Amino acid sequence: MERSKYERPDSLIGTTIKEDLGPNHGMLYLTINYSTGGDPGPVEVLAHIGKAGGCNAAFLEGITRLVSMSLQEGIPVSRISHALKGIICCPLPGGHKSPADALGTILEEGYDEQKAR
Ligand SMILES: [Zn+2]
Repeated sequence: MERSKYERPDSLIGTTIKEDLGPNHGMLYLTINYSTGGDPGPVEVLAHIGKAGGCNAAFLEGITRLVSMSLQEGIPVSRISHALKGIICCPLPGGHKSPADALGTILEEGYDEQKAR
C-alpha cells in the first residue's frame, strides 16, 4: 500500500523538557513538537544529550528520527512509549533506566500533559 509521505510544515509548536540523566549520559534536552492543525498529537521528537558529537548523542538522534517517523505514520504515542520504556543500561537519576527509557517516559508524560490542556 502506497502511503502519502508526511510533509513537515514550516512551523510546529513544541515543548522542551530538561532532564538530568547523571554522569554517564549528561543532561537531556528533549523537544516534543506538536501538529498545529487537525490532529493535535506529537509529530516530531528532537533530542540533545551530553557532549556534542558523542556516540550517545548520535545513537539518541537515530532513535528520535525513528520515533518522529513512527508518529508521522500514525503509530500511537502509547505504543512507541511502551517499546522504549523498560530498556535498561545503568542507574540514572529520576528513576530512569536508560536514555531510551527516559525518552519513552517523557514522550508519554508530555503527551498526557498536552491532552490535559
Ligand atoms: Zn547508561
